[in-house]
Amino acid sequence: MTPLKRNPPNRRFTCITYPEAGAMGLTGDWRIFRPVVDKEKCTGCQICWMYCPDTAITMDENNKPVFNLEYCKGCMICETNCPVKAISRVRETEAEAAVEK
Ligand code: SF4
Ligand code: SF4
Repeated sequence: MTPLKRNPPNRRFTCITYPEAGAMGLTGDWRIFRPVVDKEKCTGCQICWMYCPDTAITMDENNKPVFNLEYCKGCMICETNCPVKAISRVRETEAEAAVEK
């Protein structure tokens, strides 16, 4: 069994594992929708971070989620579980035009 990797010490929050490319490559390639956070609405509760099945979320220095787009597969579980609806989705083809608040 592969040993679990831990976050480096300079990370503020601990993840159980790092995301890793699987046999089919980076899971970010699967994404149709991209999660976008409204930082004004976000309370920093970390529920999105806890629920992300790909460990594709880390929390920044202001306790707001940052999405690792190499591994975020766009399942939108984070959006579903955010208690204040601070996460929304944009279609990947329109994501460059969308600006995070
Ligand atoms: S679940 Fe929502 S409110 Fe909580 S940290 Fe994530 S985006 Fe912010
Ligand atoms: S869309 Fe899915 S994979 Fe991407 S950050 Fe949210 S929960 Fe994680």
